[in-house]
Amino acid sequence: MSQRIEQLSTDVSNKIAAGEVVERPASVVKELVENAIDAGAGRIEITCRQGGKELIQIKDDGHGIRSADAPLAWQRHATSKITGAEDLFCIKTLGFRGEALPSIAAVSDIQMLTRHVDEEIGTFLELRAGELTAHRDQAYPVGTTIMVNNLFYNTPARYKFLKTTATERRHIIDLVSNLALSNGEIAFKLVMDDEQVLLAQGTGKLEDAVLAVYGAEVAENMLWVEQGLGPYRLTGLVGRPEIARGNRNYETVFVNHRWVKDRLILAAVEKAYREFLPTKRFPVVVLNLSVPADLVDVNVHPAKAEVRFKDESMIFRLVITALEGVFKRNQLIQPFEIERTPIYHQARPVQQTQAAMDYGTATRYTPRQERMADTPSWEGIPRIQDESVVEDIHIIGQLWDTYILMADEESFWLIDQHAAAERINFDKLKTQWAASVDSGLARQALVVPIPLELPLAQGELINEHRGKLERLGFKVEPFGQSSFLLQEIPVALEMLRTSPGEIEATVEEILRQIEEEDDWENQALSSIACKAAIKANHRLQPTEMQGLVQNFKKTANPYTCPHGRPAILELSRKEVEKSFARR
Ligand code: ADP
Ligand code: MG
Repeated sequence: MSQRIEQLSTDVSNKIAAGEVVERPASVVKELVENAIDAGAGRIEITCRQGGKELIQIKDDGHGIRSADAPLAWQRHATSKITGAEDLFCIKTLGFRGEALPSIAAVSDIQMLTRHVDEEIGTFLELRAGELTAHRDQAYPVGTTIMVNNLFYNTPARYKFLKTTATERRHIIDLVSNLALSNGEIAFKLVMDDEQVLLAQGTGKLEDAVLAVYGAEVAENMLWVEQGLGPYRLTGLVGRPEIARGNRNYETVFVNHRWVKDRLILAAVEKAYREFLPTKRFPVVVLNLSVPADLVDVNVHPAKAEVRFKDESMIFRLVITALEGVFKRNQLIQPFEIERTPIYHQARPVQQTQAAMDYGTATRYTPRQERMADTPSWEGIPRIQDESVVEDIHIIGQLWDTYILMADEESFWLIDQHAAAERINFDKLKTQWAASVDSGLARQALVVPIPLELPLAQGELINEHRGKLERLGFKVEPFGQSSFLLQEIPVALEMLRTSPGEIEATVEEILRQIEEEDDWENQALSSIACKAAIKANHRLQPTEMQGLVQNFKKTANPYTCPHGRPAILELSRKEVEKSFARR
């Protein structure tokens, strides 16, 4: 077959481009609304029929298009937004490829009404499958309305790929929601099949946009973020853990007010939330990252959902520190008041179960003991005058040897004793860890070293990571080929001295974390915290419950265990009364 090489006709190349830019009705809405935003619109009305398959109409009050330019806007690579290639590295508008209008026109019938601010009279334009069929003057207010009819009617193959009307509607709603969230100063109205679906007033306040899009429950549980690092600036609202969702749909990120699916930023967000959320729960966030135009490449993908940053690690760091700062300032989740004056006076003798966790005192590195002194620790379990009251919370008792029941005037709580103890231990270990980057966690020598007989590959791992293990409190000496002797263990695990099997399992678990996990430090600390914590099905004395609750209240996050499982369950009096139909 000797086919001649020929230039594709404009019609064919527009249809190919349409395949890239116009994937579905929502992509049309996106391109047209972005054009309206670029035109300086303050009010944008979006009307759709049949999930956009029958009609998409976008009306804006932007600067409009000059009559003479109107047909040109529908030609390929016609744009008013960049002129030379050097502009590509400094893009400030949402559009720039000059591809959207011709691509959309190639696969639909178009009507446009527009009037430029500097012109007296408006313009009417009509295109059928990309061919201009009408162009005349028509009276019209300043701004632009574009109607896209019967999308994909002339490309049946693409039409077939459209999903149900409901799915296409959902995509449009998602999109307009994102646009409203990223452009708080623009009013958005979305009407679908004659029903008003969304109305954002464009007050310029992100809270209002969040309220319009997500409703009051979410809006009332958002916290402000605002932080800069170098040339970057992160602003927005992040949700309290209580309003976390079962999927990632509520994680919205913008870069320079452009919605993006940025893995880097989302990974940083989820990392910051990890300790606060159970697994498979995802935060509600609306964040905008401001980046100088020359430090980000938005020209990665035609639909422009991806961007590339010059300095990824700095952005990652900014997101993490910004969110951690917010969580700290807001003392995330206070199931009970933390700052009340304690009513206890002197320390009480340490009991047996607590002695097991009393690793704060046995530290080998004395300088850090001062620091440890002001962090909650088990040896500091106070004597409480009234045995059943911690401040004004009444400990009612222990349920099934596993949960501590408490109540005050307003609420009723169930604390998972293991998860709470784990959290307390984790905080302590983390403080120690942070305070001693070189020497690591406090270690305790074993009178009888524990032999570690590991498979060969594990032996290799131990050799490789001995330094890290030692910092985590496990001092290991080689003892023949692929055999080791565990000489010292973390003080926190002292009570496991007599269970060598458990200690060996812990070492293996930590080796895996070091090998496989990016944040192995946190993971290893939570493994140790877990092993050191009181187990479920373990009867506690009232004073032990006191101590546990007291210390749990002081932790940074009295909400989940370090693995993210919930540690406390709260039922308000209101909810109880509602359940009994008293309200
Ligand atoms: P791009 O947005 O990449 O420049 P488009 O094909 O989306 O390319 O639009 C082509 C041109 O049409 C734009 O550069 C702009 O000048 C003009 N235009 C499109 N929509 C509007 C609008 N709603 N208001 C004013 N001008 C518009
Ligand atoms: Mg555009």
